[in-house]
Amino acid sequence: MPTSPDLHSHSTASDGCLAPARLLERAYQHGVRVMALTDHDTLEGLPEGQASADALGMDFISGVEISVTWNGGTVHIVGLGVDQENTELNQGLASLRAFRDWRAEEIGHRLQRSGYPGLFERARALSNGRLISRTHFARALVESGHADSVAGVFRRFLVRGKPGHVAGEWASLEDAVCWIRAAGGQAVIAHPARYRMTRTRLRKLFAAFVDAGGVALEVISGSHNRDETFTMAAHARDFGLLGSAGSDFHDPANPWIEMGRLPAMPGGVRPIWHDWELQGLQETAAH
Ligand code: AMP
Ligand code: MN
Ligand code: MN
Ligand code: MN
Repeated sequence: MPTSPDLHSHSTASDGCLAPARLLERAYQHGVRVMALTDHDTLEGLPEGQASADALGMDFISGVEISVTWNGGTVHIVGLGVDQENTELNQGLASLRAFRDWRAEEIGHRLQRSGYPGLFERARALSNGRLISRTHFARALVESGHADSVAGVFRRFLVRGKPGHVAGEWASLEDAVCWIRAAGGQAVIAHPARYRMTRTRLRKLFAAFVDAGGVALEVISGSHNRDETFTMAAHARDFGLLGSAGSDFHDPANPWIEMGRLPAMPGGVRPIWHDWELQGLQETAAH
């Protein structure tokens, strides 16, 4: 059964559970033939992902998911087709990882002061020496018996107003888009329905994104329901944005959606891959 390209996924280079090669193999087994690896704020997994995709005969898109602060909130910008050697992009991502390192220690201190010791060390061990995300703290808190599930642990510990929350500034929207473009990539707003923004504010974000040189919206996301998909398709049409599609796969035990199961792009939205040269692109599932 042919499936849609999957242009949003995570490996052990950030907060995913599968090494890049295992992730690509799993995607292949689920029918995916065009795949982007988009780890948070790092390009580290891309060479292994590329090698695995080459061995499997899949199209591999070099990607990244950049953490951005916009209007006081966090927004994620995916870059697709980026040059891994580009200095501007690599320097920008290095600055975000430096902030992550500081933030991880700070999260650890705050949890310790609230009576939950040793979590920085556990989170760091779970990250295998790579970047530390809140997901690693969530897993550490579950493992140490402080919470039942990774989803509940965010609400109790890791969001604003909770003991393990640390505010901070990620990249600006303009810088993130600029780094992606400097590296020859296309900038995409990730999972736009996840930001708990009003319609007005969301449309301000889209306008600012277009001004900055962004080209696509993730209309299809593993984290979108049907209504959200159609709402985002309408926004993409209004703003002249291309549509992207991605599972946002992290963890076989806990997927938003299994790979290879993405719905088709709604009518009237041009897919971001429409002019890509792909060997493995099949017709996407019928509407
Ligand atoms: P960070 O970039 O380190 O702040 O971590 C953000 C990551 O945490 C996201 O990419 C998700 O993978 C994960 N995350 C955020 N909120 C939740 C949630 N409510 N349930 C599960 N995972 C979440
Ligand atoms: Mn994540
Ligand atoms: Mn994200
Ligand atoms: Mn993601």
